[in-house]
Amino acid sequence: MESVYLNNYTITIEKQFPREIIKASFPLRYGKCSVIKTPEYEFLFNLNGEIKFIRGLNLKSWPHLAEQLKRTDGNDWVYYSVGDESGEKGIVSRLGEYYLPCLPYPSNSAWEFNYFSNPNVMSAFAAWSQLYGNLYGTRRDGLSAKVRDFINLVLNNDENILHEKAVKLHSIIGGRITVLPPDTRHVDYEIVPLMIADGCLYHCKFCFVKSAQQYQTRSKTDILEQIGQLKVFYGRNIENYNALFLGNHDALAAREELICLAASEAIEAFGFGDPQAKAPRLFLFGSVDSLLNSGNDLFEKLNQLPFYTYINVGLESIDAPTLAFIHKPLDPGKVRAAFQKLLEINASYANIEITANFLLGEELSPDHYQSLAALLRDAPVPSHGKGAVYLSPLMDSPKKRELLPKFLEIKKQSRLPAYIYLIQRL
Ligand code: SF4
Repeated sequence: MESVYLNNYTITIEKQFPREIIKASFPLRYGKCSVIKTPEYEFLFNLNGEIKFIRGLNLKSWPHLAEQLKRTDGNDWVYYSVGDESGEKGIVSRLGEYYLPCLPYPSNSAWEFNYFSNPNVMSAFAAWSQLYGNLYGTRRDGLSAKVRDFINLVLNNDENILHEKAVKLHSIIGGRITVLPPDTRHVDYEIVPLMIADGCLYHCKFCFVKSAQQYQTRSKTDILEQIGQLKVFYGRNIENYNALFLGNHDALAAREELICLAASEAIEAFGFGDPQAKAPRLFLFGSVDSLLNSGNDLFEKLNQLPFYTYINVGLESIDAPTLAFIHKPLDPGKVRAAFQKLLEINASYANIEITANFLLGEELSPDHYQSLAALLRDAPVPSHGKGAVYLSPLMDSPKKRELLPKFLEIKKQSRLPAYIYLIQRL
Protein backbone atom coordinates (compact mmCIF):
# COMPACT_ATOMS: atom_id res chain seq x y z
CA MET A 1 0.00 0.00 0.00
CA GLU A 2 1.42 3.37 -1.00
CA SER A 3 0.17 6.82 0.01
CA VAL A 4 1.00 10.14 -1.54
CA TYR A 5 -0.08 13.70 -0.79
CA LEU A 6 -0.92 15.62 -3.94
CA ASN A 7 -2.36 19.13 -4.22
CA ASN A 8 -4.94 19.09 -1.40
CA TYR A 9 -5.68 15.38 -1.40
CA THR A 10 -4.20 12.09 -0.28
CA ILE A 11 -4.07 9.09 -2.57
CA THR A 12 -3.75 5.63 -1.05
CA ILE A 13 -3.15 2.86 -3.55
CA GLU A 14 -4.80 -0.53 -3.11
CA LYS A 15 -5.64 -0.47 0.54
CA GLN A 16 -6.74 -3.88 1.81
CA PHE A 17 -9.98 -3.57 3.78
CA PRO A 18 -11.50 -6.68 5.41
CA ARG A 19 -12.14 -9.37 2.80
CA GLU A 20 -15.47 -10.21 4.32
CA ILE A 21 -18.25 -7.73 4.78
CA ILE A 22 -18.66 -6.88 8.41
CA LYS A 23 -22.17 -5.92 9.42
CA ALA A 24 -21.56 -2.68 11.29
CA SER A 25 -23.01 0.76 11.67
CA PHE A 26 -20.00 2.44 10.08
CA PRO A 27 -19.69 2.76 6.27
CA LEU A 28 -19.17 -0.54 4.55
CA ARG A 29 -15.58 -1.16 3.52
CA TYR A 30 -14.38 -4.42 2.04
CA GLY A 31 -11.91 -5.81 -0.48
CA LYS A 32 -8.99 -3.98 -1.98
CA CYS A 33 -9.65 -0.40 -3.07
CA SER A 34 -7.68 2.76 -3.73
CA VAL A 35 -8.75 5.83 -1.80
CA ILE A 36 -8.57 9.54 -2.55
CA LYS A 37 -9.32 11.80 0.39
CA THR A 38 -9.93 15.51 0.03
CA PRO A 39 -10.79 17.77 2.99
CA GLU A 40 -14.49 17.30 2.11
CA TYR A 41 -14.88 13.81 0.61
CA GLU A 42 -13.55 10.29 0.49
CA PHE A 43 -13.60 8.55 -2.92
CA LEU A 44 -13.01 4.81 -3.26
CA PHE A 45 -12.02 3.07 -6.49
CA ASN A 46 -11.99 -0.63 -7.30
CA LEU A 47 -9.00 -2.44 -8.79
CA ASN A 48 -10.02 -1.38 -12.30
CA GLY A 49 -9.94 2.29 -11.29
CA GLU A 50 -13.76 2.57 -11.40
CA ILE A 51 -15.37 4.85 -8.82
CA LYS A 52 -17.19 2.76 -6.20
CA PHE A 53 -18.03 4.86 -3.13
CA ILE A 54 -18.25 8.58 -2.32
CA ARG A 55 -18.64 9.74 1.27
CA GLY A 56 -18.80 13.25 2.69
CA LEU A 57 -16.44 13.95 5.57
CA ASN A 58 -17.88 17.22 6.75
CA LEU A 59 -21.14 17.17 8.66
CA LYS A 60 -21.89 20.74 7.60
CA SER A 61 -22.34 19.49 4.06
CA TRP A 62 -23.10 15.78 4.43
CA PRO A 63 -26.15 14.20 6.11
CA HIS A 64 -24.37 11.56 8.26
CA LEU A 65 -20.79 10.26 8.48
CA ALA A 66 -21.94 6.64 8.08
CA GLU A 67 -23.84 7.46 4.89
CA GLN A 68 -22.37 7.20 1.43
CA LEU A 69 -23.05 6.83 -2.26
CA LYS A 70 -22.28 3.50 -3.91
CA ARG A 71 -22.03 2.85 -7.64
CA THR A 72 -23.14 -0.63 -8.68
CA ASP A 73 -21.82 -2.67 -11.60
CA GLY A 74 -25.08 -1.76 -13.35
CA ASN A 75 -23.90 1.89 -13.01
CA ASP A 76 -26.65 2.95 -10.59
CA TRP A 77 -25.72 5.34 -7.81
CA VAL A 78 -27.38 4.13 -4.61
CA TYR A 79 -27.43 6.28 -1.47
CA TYR A 80 -26.83 4.29 1.72
CA SER A 81 -28.80 5.94 4.48
CA VAL A 82 -28.82 5.05 8.18
CA GLY A 83 -32.57 5.77 8.19
CA ASP A 84 -34.46 8.04 10.53
CA GLU A 85 -35.05 5.76 13.52
CA SER A 86 -32.77 3.81 15.81
CA GLY A 87 -33.05 0.79 18.13
CA GLU A 88 -35.91 -1.68 17.62
CA LYS A 89 -37.45 0.49 14.96
CA GLY A 90 -34.17 1.09 13.19
CA ILE A 91 -33.06 -0.10 9.79
CA VAL A 92 -31.09 -3.09 11.13
CA SER A 93 -34.14 -4.72 12.71
CA ARG A 94 -36.11 -4.26 9.49
CA LEU A 95 -33.55 -5.00 6.79
CA GLY A 96 -30.95 -7.02 8.70
CA GLU A 97 -28.34 -4.45 7.63
CA TYR A 98 -27.24 -1.13 9.09
CA TYR A 99 -28.13 0.93 6.08
CA LEU A 100 -31.08 1.56 3.82
CA PRO A 101 -30.26 1.56 0.12
CA CYS A 102 -32.09 4.56 -1.43
CA LEU A 103 -32.46 3.70 -5.07
CA PRO A 104 -32.44 6.04 -8.05
CA TYR A 105 -35.20 4.04 -9.81
CA PRO A 106 -38.74 2.95 -8.82
CA SER A 107 -38.90 -0.02 -6.48
CA ASN A 108 -41.01 -1.35 -3.61
CA SER A 109 -39.28 0.52 -0.78
CA ALA A 110 -41.33 1.13 2.36
CA TRP A 111 -39.26 4.28 2.91
CA GLU A 112 -39.40 7.37 0.80
CA PHE A 113 -36.13 9.18 1.20
CA ASN A 114 -35.34 11.18 -1.87
CA TYR A 115 -31.67 11.83 -1.35
CA PHE A 116 -31.25 12.74 -4.96
CA SER A 117 -33.05 16.01 -4.36
CA ASN A 118 -30.68 16.79 -1.47
CA PRO A 119 -28.26 19.49 -2.68
CA ASN A 120 -25.51 18.20 -0.38
CA VAL A 121 -25.69 14.75 -1.95
CA MET A 122 -25.74 16.27 -5.40
CA SER A 123 -22.65 18.29 -4.46
CA ALA A 124 -20.78 15.01 -4.01
CA PHE A 125 -21.26 14.29 -7.72
CA ALA A 126 -19.96 17.76 -8.53
CA ALA A 127 -16.95 17.07 -6.28
CA TRP A 128 -16.30 13.84 -8.16
CA SER A 129 -16.33 15.72 -11.49
CA GLN A 130 -14.00 18.30 -9.98
CA LEU A 131 -11.63 15.60 -8.72
CA TYR A 132 -11.62 13.99 -12.16
CA GLY A 133 -10.70 17.34 -13.71
CA ASN A 134 -7.96 17.89 -11.13
CA LEU A 135 -6.48 14.46 -11.78
CA TYR A 136 -6.56 15.17 -15.48
CA GLY A 137 -4.54 18.32 -14.97
CA THR A 138 -2.11 16.81 -12.47
CA ARG A 139 1.54 16.75 -13.49
CA ARG A 140 2.53 13.15 -13.21
CA ASP A 141 6.28 13.35 -13.57
CA GLY A 142 7.92 12.69 -10.26
CA LEU A 143 5.14 10.37 -9.15
CA SER A 144 5.79 6.66 -8.65
CA ALA A 145 4.73 4.27 -11.41
CA LYS A 146 1.99 2.89 -9.15
CA VAL A 147 0.41 6.29 -8.54
CA ARG A 148 0.70 7.24 -12.22
CA ASP A 149 -0.90 3.96 -13.27
CA PHE A 150 -3.72 4.49 -10.78
CA ILE A 151 -4.43 8.03 -12.01
CA ASN A 152 -4.44 6.79 -15.61
CA LEU A 153 -6.87 4.01 -14.69
CA VAL A 154 -9.24 6.48 -13.04
CA LEU A 155 -9.04 8.83 -16.02
CA ASN A 156 -9.82 5.90 -18.34
CA ASN A 157 -13.10 5.38 -16.49
CA ASP A 158 -15.08 8.55 -17.05
CA GLU A 159 -18.89 8.66 -16.90
CA ASN A 160 -19.33 7.54 -20.51
CA ILE A 161 -17.00 4.58 -20.13
CA LEU A 162 -18.72 3.49 -16.92
CA HIS A 163 -22.08 3.64 -18.72
CA GLU A 164 -20.69 1.60 -21.62
CA LYS A 165 -19.27 -0.96 -19.20
CA ALA A 166 -22.70 -1.47 -17.63
CA VAL A 167 -24.19 -1.90 -21.11
CA LYS A 168 -21.47 -4.45 -21.84
CA LEU A 169 -22.23 -6.39 -18.65
CA HIS A 170 -25.91 -6.54 -19.55
CA SER A 171 -25.13 -7.65 -23.08
CA ILE A 172 -22.90 -10.49 -21.82
CA ILE A 173 -25.63 -11.94 -19.62
CA GLY A 174 -28.52 -11.08 -21.96
CA GLY A 175 -30.15 -8.09 -20.24
CA ARG A 176 -30.43 -6.16 -17.00
CA ILE A 177 -31.15 -8.15 -13.83
CA THR A 178 -34.43 -6.68 -12.63
CA VAL A 179 -34.23 -8.19 -9.16
CA LEU A 180 -31.49 -9.68 -7.01
CA PRO A 181 -32.28 -12.22 -4.30
CA PRO A 182 -32.74 -10.53 -0.92
CA ASP A 183 -30.03 -12.77 0.53
CA THR A 184 -27.42 -10.96 -1.57
CA ARG A 185 -27.57 -8.28 1.13
CA HIS A 186 -25.05 -10.51 2.98
CA VAL A 187 -22.42 -9.57 0.35
CA ASP A 188 -23.63 -5.99 -0.16
CA TYR A 189 -25.20 -7.13 -3.48
CA GLU A 190 -21.68 -7.67 -4.86
CA ILE A 191 -22.20 -10.74 -6.98
CA VAL A 192 -20.98 -11.97 -10.33
CA PRO A 193 -24.13 -12.69 -12.36
CA LEU A 194 -24.35 -15.76 -14.58
CA MET A 195 -27.57 -16.58 -16.40
CA ILE A 196 -28.51 -20.24 -16.67
CA ALA A 197 -32.20 -19.75 -17.55
CA ASP A 198 -34.58 -17.01 -18.68
CA GLY A 199 -38.23 -16.33 -17.92
CA CYS A 200 -40.18 -17.85 -15.05
CA LEU A 201 -42.86 -20.46 -14.47
CA TYR A 202 -45.88 -18.38 -13.41
CA HIS A 203 -45.92 -14.83 -14.85
CA CYS A 204 -47.89 -13.57 -11.85
CA LYS A 205 -49.88 -10.41 -12.48
CA PHE A 206 -48.64 -8.52 -9.40
CA CYS A 207 -44.96 -8.90 -10.30
CA PHE A 208 -43.19 -5.92 -11.88
CA VAL A 209 -39.81 -7.57 -12.32
CA LYS A 210 -40.84 -10.48 -14.53
CA SER A 211 -39.82 -10.93 -18.15
CA ALA A 212 -42.28 -11.82 -20.88
CA GLN A 213 -40.26 -14.88 -21.88
CA GLN A 214 -41.39 -18.44 -21.41
CA TYR A 215 -39.12 -20.39 -19.10
CA GLN A 216 -36.09 -21.67 -20.97
CA THR A 217 -32.70 -22.88 -19.82
CA ARG A 218 -29.48 -21.65 -21.44
CA SER A 219 -27.23 -24.11 -23.26
CA LYS A 220 -23.96 -25.25 -21.71
CA THR A 221 -22.12 -23.43 -24.51
CA ASP A 222 -23.90 -20.18 -23.67
CA ILE A 223 -23.03 -20.54 -19.98
CA LEU A 224 -19.35 -21.23 -20.71
CA GLU A 225 -19.23 -18.26 -23.10
CA GLN A 226 -20.70 -15.98 -20.46
CA ILE A 227 -18.10 -17.16 -17.94
CA GLY A 228 -15.27 -16.43 -20.39
CA GLN A 229 -16.61 -12.95 -21.16
CA LEU A 230 -17.35 -12.14 -17.52
CA LYS A 231 -13.80 -13.05 -16.58
CA VAL A 232 -12.50 -10.49 -19.08
CA PHE A 233 -15.17 -7.95 -18.06
CA TYR A 234 -14.31 -8.01 -14.33
CA GLY A 235 -10.56 -8.06 -14.98
CA ARG A 236 -8.39 -7.56 -11.92
CA ASN A 237 -11.31 -6.52 -9.78
CA ILE A 238 -12.67 -10.09 -9.79
CA GLU A 239 -10.49 -10.64 -6.73
CA ASN A 240 -12.89 -8.41 -4.79
CA TYR A 241 -15.80 -10.82 -5.42
CA ASN A 242 -16.57 -14.01 -3.58
CA ALA A 243 -20.18 -14.60 -4.63
CA LEU A 244 -22.06 -15.86 -7.66
CA PHE A 245 -25.69 -15.26 -8.64
CA LEU A 246 -27.13 -17.89 -10.94
CA GLY A 247 -30.02 -16.21 -12.72
CA ASN A 248 -32.51 -15.44 -13.65
CA HIS A 249 -35.89 -15.73 -11.88
CA ASP A 250 -35.86 -19.48 -11.27
CA ALA A 251 -32.41 -21.01 -11.68
CA LEU A 252 -33.49 -23.86 -9.40
CA ALA A 253 -35.81 -25.10 -12.18
CA ALA A 254 -32.75 -25.48 -14.44
CA ARG A 255 -31.99 -28.68 -12.49
CA GLU A 256 -28.94 -30.34 -11.09
CA GLU A 257 -26.66 -30.78 -14.10
CA LEU A 258 -26.79 -27.16 -15.28
CA ILE A 259 -26.66 -25.62 -11.79
CA CYS A 260 -23.66 -27.71 -10.74
CA LEU A 261 -21.87 -27.20 -14.07
CA ALA A 262 -22.32 -23.41 -13.86
CA ALA A 263 -21.26 -23.24 -10.20
CA SER A 264 -18.20 -25.46 -10.68
CA GLU A 265 -16.98 -23.71 -13.84
CA ALA A 266 -17.50 -20.28 -12.26
CA ILE A 267 -15.60 -21.09 -9.10
CA GLU A 268 -12.63 -22.16 -11.16
CA ALA A 269 -12.74 -19.27 -13.66
CA PHE A 270 -13.38 -16.48 -11.14
CA GLY A 271 -10.92 -17.81 -8.56
CA PHE A 272 -13.49 -18.00 -5.78
CA GLY A 273 -12.61 -20.21 -2.86
CA ASP A 274 -9.56 -18.38 -1.51
CA PRO A 275 -8.62 -20.60 1.46
CA GLN A 276 -8.05 -17.48 3.59
CA ALA A 277 -11.55 -16.17 2.93
CA LYS A 278 -14.91 -17.48 4.07
CA ALA A 279 -16.68 -19.96 1.78
CA PRO A 280 -17.90 -18.23 -1.38
CA ARG A 281 -21.66 -17.67 -1.56
CA LEU A 282 -23.96 -18.91 -4.26
CA PHE A 283 -27.34 -17.23 -4.70
CA LEU A 284 -30.30 -18.34 -6.79
CA PHE A 285 -34.02 -17.98 -6.97
CA GLY A 286 -36.39 -20.94 -6.87
CA SER A 287 -40.14 -21.29 -7.11
CA VAL A 288 -42.71 -23.44 -5.36
CA ASP A 289 -42.70 -25.95 -8.22
CA SER A 290 -38.94 -26.02 -8.75
CA LEU A 291 -38.41 -26.55 -5.02
CA LEU A 292 -41.00 -29.32 -4.79
CA ASN A 293 -39.60 -30.99 -7.93
CA SER A 294 -35.97 -30.88 -6.76
CA GLY A 295 -34.81 -34.20 -5.41
CA ASN A 296 -32.33 -34.94 -2.65
CA ASP A 297 -29.63 -35.57 -5.27
CA LEU A 298 -29.55 -31.89 -6.12
CA PHE A 299 -29.34 -30.78 -2.50
CA GLU A 300 -26.65 -33.40 -1.75
CA LYS A 301 -24.58 -32.04 -4.64
CA LEU A 302 -25.14 -28.38 -3.71
CA ASN A 303 -24.19 -29.15 -0.15
CA GLN A 304 -20.87 -30.58 -1.33
CA LEU A 305 -19.96 -27.60 -3.52
CA PRO A 306 -17.36 -25.21 -2.07
CA PHE A 307 -20.17 -22.61 -1.81
CA TYR A 308 -22.58 -21.74 0.97
CA THR A 309 -25.78 -21.63 -1.06
CA TYR A 310 -28.82 -19.39 -0.56
CA ILE A 311 -31.98 -20.24 -2.49
CA ASN A 312 -34.77 -17.68 -2.30
CA VAL A 313 -38.29 -18.86 -3.07
CA GLY A 314 -41.34 -16.65 -3.70
CA LEU A 315 -44.19 -18.13 -1.63
CA GLU A 316 -46.20 -14.86 -1.40
CA SER A 317 -49.20 -16.13 0.61
CA ILE A 318 -50.90 -19.22 1.97
CA ASP A 319 -54.33 -17.62 1.64
CA ALA A 320 -56.27 -18.85 -1.44
CA PRO A 321 -58.12 -15.56 -2.19
CA THR A 322 -54.83 -13.66 -1.92
CA LEU A 323 -53.11 -16.03 -4.34
CA ALA A 324 -56.05 -15.55 -6.72
CA PHE A 325 -55.93 -11.76 -6.22
CA ILE A 326 -52.26 -11.57 -7.20
CA HIS A 327 -52.78 -14.09 -10.03
CA LYS A 328 -50.26 -16.59 -8.71
CA PRO A 329 -51.39 -19.93 -10.13
CA LEU A 330 -50.81 -21.93 -6.94
CA ASP A 331 -53.00 -23.35 -4.22
CA PRO A 332 -52.23 -22.89 -0.53
CA GLY A 333 -51.54 -26.62 -0.05
CA LYS A 334 -48.66 -26.48 -2.49
CA VAL A 335 -47.26 -23.32 -0.90
CA ARG A 336 -47.43 -24.96 2.56
CA ALA A 337 -45.68 -28.06 1.18
CA ALA A 338 -42.88 -25.85 -0.23
CA PHE A 339 -42.55 -24.07 3.13
CA GLN A 340 -42.34 -27.42 4.92
CA LYS A 341 -39.72 -28.64 2.45
CA LEU A 342 -37.54 -25.57 2.86
CA LEU A 343 -37.55 -26.06 6.63
CA GLU A 344 -36.49 -29.69 6.18
CA ILE A 345 -33.67 -28.79 3.79
CA ASN A 346 -32.42 -26.05 6.11
CA ALA A 347 -32.34 -28.56 8.95
CA SER A 348 -30.62 -31.27 6.88
CA TYR A 349 -27.89 -29.49 4.91
CA ALA A 350 -25.24 -27.39 6.62
CA ASN A 351 -24.28 -25.46 3.47
CA ILE A 352 -27.73 -24.67 2.10
CA GLU A 353 -30.11 -22.02 3.33
CA ILE A 354 -33.49 -21.57 1.72
CA THR A 355 -35.32 -18.33 2.39
CA ALA A 356 -38.88 -17.39 1.47
CA ASN A 357 -40.72 -14.27 0.35
CA PHE A 358 -44.24 -13.25 1.34
CA LEU A 359 -46.19 -10.17 0.36
CA LEU A 360 -47.15 -7.04 2.23
CA GLY A 361 -49.77 -4.70 0.79
CA GLU A 362 -52.53 -2.39 1.94
CA GLU A 363 -54.96 -4.13 -0.35
CA LEU A 364 -54.22 -7.63 1.01
CA SER A 365 -56.86 -9.10 3.30
CA PRO A 366 -56.65 -9.69 7.07
CA ASP A 367 -56.80 -13.42 6.26
CA HIS A 368 -53.50 -13.16 4.40
CA TYR A 369 -51.82 -11.60 7.43
CA GLN A 370 -53.43 -13.93 9.96
CA SER A 371 -52.57 -17.10 8.04
CA LEU A 372 -49.01 -15.88 7.45
CA ALA A 373 -48.46 -14.96 11.10
CA ALA A 374 -49.76 -18.38 12.19
CA LEU A 375 -47.53 -20.20 9.67
CA LEU A 376 -44.42 -18.40 10.92
CA ARG A 377 -45.40 -18.62 14.60
CA ASP A 378 -45.98 -22.38 14.42
CA ALA A 379 -42.98 -23.25 12.21
CA PRO A 380 -41.27 -26.26 13.79
CA VAL A 381 -37.78 -24.73 13.86
CA PRO A 382 -35.39 -23.54 16.53
CA SER A 383 -36.23 -19.89 17.15
CA HIS A 384 -34.33 -17.57 14.79
CA GLY A 385 -32.34 -20.34 13.16
CA LYS A 386 -31.49 -20.72 9.47
CA GLY A 387 -33.81 -19.56 6.73
CA ALA A 388 -35.09 -16.01 6.93
CA VAL A 389 -38.41 -14.84 5.57
CA TYR A 390 -38.65 -11.61 3.61
CA LEU A 391 -41.80 -9.53 3.44
CA SER A 392 -42.05 -7.65 0.20
CA PRO A 393 -44.27 -4.57 -0.16
CA LEU A 394 -46.33 -4.74 -3.33
CA MET A 395 -44.94 -2.28 -5.86
CA ASP A 396 -48.22 -0.41 -6.36
CA SER A 397 -49.36 -0.54 -2.75
CA PRO A 398 -50.17 2.97 -1.54
CA LYS A 399 -48.71 4.23 1.74
CA LYS A 400 -45.97 1.63 1.88
CA ARG A 401 -44.52 3.09 5.07
CA GLU A 402 -47.78 2.29 6.85
CA LEU A 403 -47.08 -1.38 6.14
CA LEU A 404 -44.20 -1.33 8.63
CA PRO A 405 -46.41 -1.94 11.71
CA LYS A 406 -47.91 -4.95 9.90
CA PHE A 407 -44.40 -6.20 9.21
CA LEU A 408 -43.37 -5.71 12.85
CA GLU A 409 -46.44 -7.60 14.06
CA ILE A 410 -45.52 -10.59 11.88
CA LYS A 411 -41.84 -10.34 12.78
CA LYS A 412 -42.70 -10.43 16.47
CA GLN A 413 -44.57 -13.70 16.05
CA SER A 414 -42.22 -15.38 13.57
CA ARG A 415 -39.86 -18.12 14.73
CA LEU A 416 -37.78 -17.40 11.63
CA PRO A 417 -35.84 -14.15 11.26
CA ALA A 418 -38.02 -11.75 9.27
CA TYR A 419 -36.95 -8.75 7.18
CA ILE A 420 -38.32 -6.37 4.59
CA TYR A 421 -37.45 -7.20 0.98
CA LEU A 422 -36.21 -4.19 -0.95
CA ILE A 423 -36.14 -5.05 -4.64
CA GLN A 424 -32.84 -4.02 -6.23
CA ARG A 425 -31.63 -4.42 -9.77
CA LEU A 426 -28.21 -4.84 -11.29
S1 SF4 B 1 -43.09 -13.47 -8.81
FE1 SF4 B 1 -41.55 -14.86 -9.68
S2 SF4 B 1 -42.79 -16.40 -10.75
FE2 SF4 B 1 -44.14 -14.65 -10.41
S3 SF4 B 1 -43.90 -13.42 -12.27
FE3 SF4 B 1 -42.43 -12.62 -10.80
S4 SF4 B 1 -40.55 -13.68 -11.33
FE4 SF4 B 1 -42.20 -14.83 -12.25
